Amino acid sequence: MDKRAFFFLNDSLLLPAELSDSQISEGLPLELSKEFDAPDIFEIPGIDEPLSMITGVSVSPQAEIPSTWRAIPVRRILAIFGGINDGETRRIVRACHIAQWRRDSLYCGTCGTKNNDVPSQAQRICPKCGRLEFPRICPAVIVIITGDDNRILLAHNKRFKTGIYSLISGFNEAGETLEETAVREIREEVNIEVKDIVYIKSQSWPFPNSLMLGFSARYSSGTIKPDGEEIEDARWFAKDNLPELPSEGSLSRYLINEWLNGNFK
Ligand SMILES: [Zn+2]
Repeated sequence: MDKRAFFFLNDSLLLPAELSDSQISEGLPLELSKEFDAPDIFEIPGIDEPLSMITGVSVSPQAEIPSTWRAIPVRRILAIFGGINDGETRRIVRACHIAQWRRDSLYCGTCGTKNNDVPSQAQRICPKCGRLEFPRICPAVIVIITGDDNRILLAHNKRFKTGIYSLISGFNEAGETLEETAVREIREEVNIEVKDIVYIKSQSWPFPNSLMLGFSARYSSGTIKPDGEEIEDARWFAKDNLPELPSEGSLSRYLINEWLNGNFK
């Protein structure tokens, strides 16, 4: 059988226009890479059992895309397949993360020499000083905050599409525990204090290099005040009065769905 590969343009998958979105979980024939000018082709171990290799083709953002191809954001693929971290999408998510990391790891961060690939590994090595480079993974927390009357706090971030509300999230800073990140982000973005922070679940989120860590927390004190910089609006919402929510396939939606199913009271 032809070797299969996932084709990427930044964090979108490329596919021939005649294929439907749901047909790409197995990848495309690697042969098709000939249709692109000097793509970056890589092979890495998967994370499944038993281990199988994943092949990726990363097309330069400057390259011309043939008119018979189209691009579909990996985020939308996650929404199509629904579940988080499941078999259908985890190979695509891993390859997407690596495809982007490879563009940011061409040169050694210590001495500036061009890195070499470590064969069949998601690693690069500097031929001059021996520095190993691994994919960068940035932890970020996302928190479902429950308040009085079984309501949750949802916020509209300036980066979201109009009308969409989601959970408070933010990146872990050097020296911080994840629980401290949760407390700080909630305080900074909506001006309230929380208690009873509990870890729930994580999700790889390669846009471009996050690991999302989902927590629940309970409201403790304070009055909601959006920071006005990232957060434009934030409110308590009841189950029968929800705004437009983030897409299925995201950890934020998973946490909200769990609450709708009776968890995190
Ligand atoms: Zn070096």
